[in-house]
Parts: sequence; C-alpha cells; structure tokens
Amino acid sequence: MIKSLFPTFIYYSPLISCSPKSFNNDLKVEALKFAEIDLAGKRWSSKNYRGGYTSYGSIPHLHKVSTTFETLESEINKHVYKFAKHLEMDINLKELKMSSCWINIMPMNAAHTMHIHPLSVISGTYYVRTPEDCSSIKFEDPRLESFMASPPRKHSAKIQNQRHFSLEPQEGHLVLFESWTRHEVPPNNSKKDRISISFNYDWL
Ligand code: FE
Repeated sequence: MIKSLFPTFIYYSPLISCSPKSFNNDLKVEALKFAEIDLAGKRWSSKNYRGGYTSYGSIPHLHKVSTTFETLESEINKHVYKFAKHLEMDINLKELKMSSCWINIMPMNAAHTMHIHPLSVISGTYYVRTPEDCSSIKFEDPRLESFMASPPRKHSAKIQNQRHFSLEPQEGHLVLFESWTRHEVPPNNSKKDRISISFNYDWL
C-alpha cells in the first residue's frame, strides 16, 4: 500500500465560463491606463520591479477604487470558495476576503523571482494578456529545503513527483494556490507585454 500524503494543490480555471472577452478587454484597457497615469507606481516599479510595471507599491487595493476590478473580485470570490472547499478548510468561507489586488505588466525580459505571499491564505493571478512565448508561472515543491540527500527525479517523472511545475496560463484564466506556495515568473521571452492581475485573500 502506498498513500499519497500532504499534496500541494494548484487551482486553474477560466474566470467566466461564457463570453469573457469584453470583460477581459475592459480590464486590459484599465490596466494600461493605470500604468500610464500611476506615477508613484512607476517610481516604485523602477526600484522594485525592473523593466516592468506593477501597482503593488502604489495602488494595492484596485478592487476598492475601480468598479471593473470590483466585478473581477466578485467573480474570483466564487473560485476561491470552491478552492477553499476542496482544501477542506475548517472556516466560514465568507470570512475569506480579497485583501489586495494589483496589476503586473511585464515587457520582454521582465521577471519576478521566487517568493511567497506572507500572511495571506489564498493567492492567485488572473491573466489578461498572455502572448505566445510569454512566461509561465513556476511553482516549487514546498519541501525542497528538507530534501538534502534525496536523489533527483527522472525528467519523465509523473507531475506529482516533480520538484517544480510550470503552468502556461491562458488569457481569461486564473490560477489559485495557498499563499505559502513558492512561485516565480521567469523572464518574458515574448516581445509583447504579458499583463496579469494578482491578488491575496486573507482570513478576516
Ligand atoms: Fe506572486
């Protein structure tokens, strides 16, 4: 008997099952507008997000200032509840609330190194624009630092035995993960900008 214990779950789904294109376009237009007018964000990004733009340091609560992002929040809520149910969290799901929400625009070669989202419960990203050859999102096995003498796994090993997992996101889709899951966005190989919206849910 071999049991599979302590799995790491990654949730991936279209945001809306039918005709999300016009809503996605509204988000794209607004994201580009913020990137143009948000001078504090541009300054913050030049120091902390080289080559790219993020509203993380200037407007980290877009769902509180824009009705488009407020609608995005209410759509994401449904997925977060579904994911939390799958994880069998022993909490009132309505107490999981979006605490922050920000834009990421990554031109060619922009990258975001390995990190977690401290103090949150569930984090994720909605993909507004993912041109061909743009970066994936890469997840790391959270037990990695404990492996020490553990041999590497075969290149062809099953997904659950790999140490890393890269997801190539599609426009109009979102990914969710528990906030302690380390992840990175490798350099963008596309000449076109990769646009996404990231968010955290806290237990409030
Ligand atoms: Fe992240």
